[in-house]
This record gives sequence, structure tokens and C-alpha cells, in this order.
Amino acid sequence: MRFEIQAECPATGARAGLLHTAHGVIETPVFMPVGTQATVKGLPQRNLIEDLDARIILANTYHLFLRPGHELIRQLGGLHRFMSWPRALLTDSGGFQVFSLSSLRKITESGVTFRSHLNGDAHLFTPESTVDVQLAFGSDILMALDECLPYPASHESARDAMRRTVRWARVAYSHFQTRKEQAEIASSLFPIVQGSMFRDLREECAGELVGLGADGYAIGGLSVGEPRELSLEVAGYTAPMLPRDRPRYAMGVGMPEELPEYVALGVDMMDCVLPSRNARNGYLFTSGGRIIIKQSRYRDDASPLDPKCPCYTCRTFSRAYLRHLFQAGEILFSTLATLHNLRYYLDTMRGIRQSILLGGFPAFLDSVRSATVE
Ligand SMILES: [Zn+2]
Repeated sequence: MRFEIQAECPATGARAGLLHTAHGVIETPVFMPVGTQATVKGLPQRNLIEDLDARIILANTYHLFLRPGHELIRQLGGLHRFMSWPRALLTDSGGFQVFSLSSLRKITESGVTFRSHLNGDAHLFTPESTVDVQLAFGSDILMALDECLPYPASHESARDAMRRTVRWARVAYSHFQTRKEQAEIASSLFPIVQGSMFRDLREECAGELVGLGADGYAIGGLSVGEPRELSLEVAGYTAPMLPRDRPRYAMGVGMPEELPEYVALGVDMMDCVLPSRNARNGYLFTSGGRIIIKQSRYRDDASPLDPKCPCYTCRTFSRAYLRHLFQAGEILFSTLATLHNLRYYLDTMRGIRQSILLGGFPAFLDSVRSATVE
């Protein structure tokens, strides 16, 4: 994997770049749709490519490890072939889900034991095993196992979790290097900076992880219950602690108006379930603000969802029809709404990228901020 910076904003930390992977070139900054179960819920792969031109999507190691299992996916040719996705894939380490979904977690120095939320079976994730699971998937970008604490956390517990995350990252990285010596592997492994909302811990963590010389770095431990301004503050001081010439990935963040804020901090990659989850719940992001489609005012509204949006949903259907589908609980609603919300996110990112390339990012950021204040 190779990261090429094409333009940097002189006034902020924003950069536009190209991330070259074995499954295509990703234009950054990039928003990655979340495909938890090897599917972006409600949206066929064809739409992700033809309508959205998504270059990379994310899948969840925890879920796919439990079902259908990484050995089955390996046997069927890896995750790209299994889900017929020819473009880049990032998988998380599973740590976040272990800490948020499973029961009876027990953390030891070697890893974390947990019980499946599906059937209660006991499993063990170690820094080495989660690398092997993600290699079985054939992911382009693998994430190292980390310990992610909810907010708020004490300095002491955050320090312990952060130092364990660093030790695990070293183990994961050396295991990954060994695997690379044994076989031709084009993937990259990103370690994750933890440290909760404590600057000194983030600094210690970033300092240790940078020594690994990884192809990219993630800022984790955000969107765990803290106020949004605090997530931005933490990302703001953490991003500059990471190497300039490597992609920086802020995990699990981003309301639409926050995308340029994170980019301004020097973040290159983001993911969030918001656009797809909210879509299914009838909560739509548009250039004119949020639309809650079930509201009765849309009952006879013949206008498109977002007149400025070129997506299939907005080109083809009225708000009244979308509201009808939602009220009737029709499957098609999820598909059309997800298509639109993701298009809105990806187009926002493409607009940000263009403005960086053309030198107009500060003005872009100002316009988003003043629209948000209104
Ligand atoms: Zn649309």
C-alpha cells in the first residue's frame, strides 16, 4: 500500500491524497460505508459501485468471525470473492464489538475471552488471532486488536488500556511481519491510538505506535459516549502526533457537518454507521437540512427528497412516495434511503477533496460552519 499526498491546505491540516491498494486507488479524504455483515444493509454491491462509486467499504471482524466464520470465507476465496466486492476492504479488529456486544469479557495479557452474543459460545481474540482472521478474509487494511473504553474513563483505567493496546499492537505487528515473510501479502496493518480523552495518554500511545513504522494509523476510542466537541478536540491534538506521510483514520466519527472538521484536523479516512442506520430509520441528510420522512408534512409532498442531489432516489421519487414506503414498512424504503444518505456523505467528501485540490478548503469549511449555525 502506498499513500500519496496530492495537495495540502496551507491554512488547516487538510490533505487530499491517493491511497494505492491491491484493490484499486482510493481518493482521500474518504468516507467508508459500513458493511457490518459483509453487506451495506439494504444496498447491493452494484449500487455501491455504479451509483456511489465507493472505493472502499468496511466490514466487521467480530460478526464475520462468529458467522459465517473466517475459515469458511477463506475456503470460498476470501471476503472480496465471497461478497463479490472487487474494490478495497477494511476490517476492524473485532475489539470494539467484543467490548460493546459480547458478554462475560475477560481481558488478560494474551487477549480477551468473550461469549458470542449469538449463542453464548466462548471465544478468545488475541492480537495474533485477529490478524490471522483478517488475513483469512484477505482484507486490504487490517486493524490491530485494541482495548476501547467507554466514556468517561478514569486516567488510571485509560492508561492501563492504552498500554495494553500498545503491547498488543507490537505483538500483532510482529505476527503480521512473520506472516508476510511466509506468504505474498499485499495488506497493511494499522495500529490504533487509544488513551481516552487524556492528551498525555494519547501522546504516549502515538509515540510508541509510530515506532512500528506502520502504513497507516487509526485514532480510536472516539464516539464512545463523549460530547461531539470533545471527539473533535481529541482528534485535533492526536492527528499531528502521527506521521504526515501516512493515512490517518478517525474511527466511527462523523455527522455530515463534521466531515470537513475532521478533514481540517488532518484526518484522511472516516467511517460511521450513521448515514446507513439513520436512513433505515427514516432520518435523511439533505442539502436543506435533516428530513424525518415520517412527518405528516411530507404526506402529499411531490418534490424530490433533495432537489440538489443527483442520486437515483432523488432523481426518481417524491417525498410523498418515500414517506408511504416508510409508513408501510416496505423494504424498498431502506434501499432508496441508504442510497441517498450514502451519496450525500460521499458527495460531501468529494466536495471537500475538490476544494483542497483547488486551494479553496478554508472557504468550504467556513460555508459549512455558517450553514450549521443557521
Ligand atoms: Zn439523493
